Amino acid sequence: MNQAYQVIIIGAGAAGLMCAATAAKRGKKVIILDHANKVGKKILMSGGGRCNFTNYSIQADNYISSNPHFCKSALSRYNQWQFIELVDSHQIEYYDKGQGELFCKHSSKDIRDMLVNECARYSAEIQLKVNINKIKKDQHQNTFLIDTSQGTFSCESLVIATGGLSIPTMGASNFGYQLAEQFGHDIIPTIPALSPLTFEKKWLEKALSLPGNSLLAEVSCNQQTFKDALLFTHKGLSGPAILQISSYWKPGDSISVNLLPEIKVKAWLLENKQNRGEIQLKTLLSTQFSQAISEYLCNLIGVNIKLKQLENTEINKIEKQLTQWILYPAGYEGYRVAEVTKGGVETSSISSKTFESSKQTGLYFIGEVLDVTGHLGGYNFQWAWSSGHAAGCYV
Ligand SMILES: Cc1cc2nc3c(=O)[nH]c(=O)nc-3n(C[C@H](O)[C@H](O)[C@H](O)COP(=O)(O)OP(=O)(O)OC[C@H]3O[C@@H](n4cnc5c(N)ncnc54)[C@H](O)[C@@H]3O)c2cc1C
Repeated sequence: MNQAYQVIIIGAGAAGLMCAATAAKRGKKVIILDHANKVGKKILMSGGGRCNFTNYSIQADNYISSNPHFCKSALSRYNQWQFIELVDSHQIEYYDKGQGELFCKHSSKDIRDMLVNECARYSAEIQLKVNINKIKKDQHQNTFLIDTSQGTFSCESLVIATGGLSIPTMGASNFGYQLAEQFGHDIIPTIPALSPLTFEKKWLEKALSLPGNSLLAEVSCNQQTFKDALLFTHKGLSGPAILQISSYWKPGDSISVNLLPEIKVKAWLLENKQNRGEIQLKTLLSTQFSQAISEYLCNLIGVNIKLKQLENTEINKIEKQLTQWILYPAGYEGYRVAEVTKGGVETSSISSKTFESSKQTGLYFIGEVLDVTGHLGGYNFQWAWSSGHAAGCYV
């Protein structure tokens, strides 16, 4: 039996839920189909269980895309303040973790349940455990026919909200990209983003005591710099500063790390040479770093003498090592741990106003499946809300 709807959304994640609630509020007959056994799995696991659902400051500069202007319209038409208003209307408590990043005070479930309740309030249906076999467009009837494990569905507007490739165990699939190609869209090659970076065995063997240590650092690559926590891991480096820079790093590139971004290092070294000349370099470093990092850096610099014995050339060398530590990551840790996927459906053939495809009337793409990738800090969810809302107004 053909189950007919005005709007079918594939993907009950952040963007799909927002789009469904918005379209259903306009009186549209809407259903979301998802192959997972639970709604909004990534929302639930996001932000360490507290969902960093938006940011007080959202700019186009916080997004990476081959078409940097594409995100602007949707972000301004449904912005962070409108989403915060919705969160407030559901009496969800939240806090600013710093840098304007808004997290749930209690649980990510609050945001997921809010969206599910909004769908229910306007009678948008959600059907889980549905495997999509095939989609085709009936050009005469102007409808899409969706052949699934739970029968055939038809609709006038079909919205693809299947997200990116990260965390395959949570239901991520390349379905959206394949469908886009089926209808003639180009795909910007996908790579893991907001991902920890790995290092070669040779490097890791010299850093055996470091995993678990973290510090505030400024990390730069390809004209981008992020100041945030850096964490040493068993495979290489992680922490917010590394996740952010991973979105700009490409295999073969180096990254430069300033380990003491808050102080003027040369002046600090000279001052201590003058006033605390009897102490060793390692002792001075341990006033700024953990024991393990201090020891590691002393080995790296190859100097551990009393400060008063340091020549100017050595001071310059130490300063350079501490402020411009050049590293060559081996790779991304991969989709298993990456928060998002960079690349995706190329946006020049998608309307930035309606999110409808220019290749196929009635077909829409929203959220992470598009070639729009946010920085860490609530930007990816805001993109899901903004693009989902925009399409929801036109489907
Ligand atoms: C661990 C982790 C933490 C994160 N934390 C944050 C955070 O705190 N703040 C932030 O802004 N962003 C965060 N993100 C990123 C954010 O979760 C995503 O950018 C966002 O969920 C994208 O929304 P979406 O609706 O496009 O895709 P998703 O939310 O991924 O939803 C896609 C849906 O499509 C379904 N689907 C996929 N393939 C198929 C198929 N073939 N058939 C049927 N259904 C299918 C999936 O089951 C899923 O329900 C995090 C990501 C991860 C992995």
